[in-house]
Amino acid sequence: MFFELTRSLSFRADPEQERGGSRGIAFGTDKGSLDKLGMTNWCFYLFPDNLSIIILNRFIMLKIITEPNPILRQKAIPFDWDKLNVAKLKKWEREMIRLMYAQKGIGLAATQVSLPWRFCVIGRAATDHITASSAGGRRGGTDWFLINPEIIARSSEMHTLLEGCLSCPKVERPVARAIWVKVRAQDITGKNLEFDAENLSARVIQHELDHLDGILIIDK
Ligand SMILES: [Zn+2]
Repeated sequence: MFFELTRSLSFRADPEQERGGSRGIAFGTDKGSLDKLGMTNWCFYLFPDNLSIIILNRFIMLKIITEPNPILRQKAIPFDWDKLNVAKLKKWEREMIRLMYAQKGIGLAATQVSLPWRFCVIGRAATDHITASSAGGRRGGTDWFLINPEIIARSSEMHTLLEGCLSCPKVERPVARAIWVKVRAQDITGKNLEFDAENLSARVIQHELDHLDGILIIDK
């Protein structure tokens, strides 16, 4: 649950500051941190259940944030198709894929770019092991953008492998994950997907879903 505050509270920059770039009201954090995040115009999302606040960059200039940024610890909220702008979602998809490849990643979750909703990108190198029986005709070996992904079944058999993370630079951790998972999600058109993923695909999906729950490899 969240409240969108931007409709009731307006933080419009004055023209001079807007031209100058960064501005904002420190609300639960200090302005210096916001500057470091490159946030030039943003809004707040308040999560009343844990009294935390997330700050959303309103423009498309997304940036991958790193540990110990507290946004990485937020539990992402479901993407609401009725309330949110699908055109913007498509821009976020493009921008997240661009950022992921620019940093040689294989997956990227919305939380890592300070967006509060449940979606993630799975890079094409990690979609080869997806059984697309009911995945809406999607092919393996292409970039997948998964909205509201959830794991509905998983193998009891686990495999441990060294993992890295774009939000935990220079850290590698052995992480045990289920070898196989069954996933339910929506694609960018809102179509329901259900598919099986194994090996690397299963690992990347579990890693990205951890991000959406505020969990990092350093917790493993
Ligand atoms: Zn990661």
